[in-house]
Amino acid sequence: MTLEIKGLSVRYRQEPSLFAPLDLCIESGEVATVMGPSGIGKSTLLDAIGGHLAAGFTMTGSVRLDGREVTQLPPEARRIGLMFQDAALFPHLSVGDNLAFGLARAIGGRAARRAAVEAALEQAGLGGLYERDPATLSGGQRARAALMRTLLADPQALLLDEPFSRLDAARRAAVRGFTFAHIRDRAIPALMVTHDPADAEATGGQVLSLVTEGAGG
Ligand code: ADP
Ligand code: MG
Repeated sequence: MTLEIKGLSVRYRQEPSLFAPLDLCIESGEVATVMGPSGIGKSTLLDAIGGHLAAGFTMTGSVRLDGREVTQLPPEARRIGLMFQDAALFPHLSVGDNLAFGLARAIGGRAARRAAVEAALEQAGLGGLYERDPATLSGGQRARAALMRTLLADPQALLLDEPFSRLDAARRAAVRGFTFAHIRDRAIPALMVTHDPADAEATGGQVLSLVTEGAGG
């Protein structure tokens, strides 16, 4: 599985492109990092890749997943998962039902779905917490639960938008390690936006900066 981005740029209405066209190929299990100043369009880049640009934005270029052009597909057909800093668990659902919400439709039957969620909770160090109210979890537990919800949808690629920025230093390292290990285990490509050089360093993958068109060389 590879995520291949060619000549991708985004503009708002008739304004100039937010950033110079981006070329990037991310391999299975690799976490590539995008950095760049606030407002340059990092979140918008992820929106373009996921297929959910806000009204008024248009993109040029292409996005290929495992060689398959997905640029014209609606978001749900792309199978690209999203994890972001404020990824909230639904407050009216238990922790387990939150994960079940993400569960791929391919897993049918109440018992099978329950078992898949229990296994995911166990993997995330959240064993036995199926019935818990999300409000009673720690920040690190919530972050791991949100990641498992995303992964249970069986995404073919993952986009992470400042995923650890709400966590304190101690939890950050732990949740980061857990997240990257899962990406490697699933052998899916991932693209992460972050402001923290330590996040980028921990990936061992490519790191690039968005620049405005005409900037640099
Ligand atoms: P970053 O994530 O790099 O901080 P964003 O992708 O959030 O930047 O925003 C890129 C630019 O697009 C900014 O100038 C921002 O103000 C603008 N923008 C973001 N969302 C919208 C929107 N829904 N409508 C109009 N402009 C937007
Ligand atoms: Mg952003």
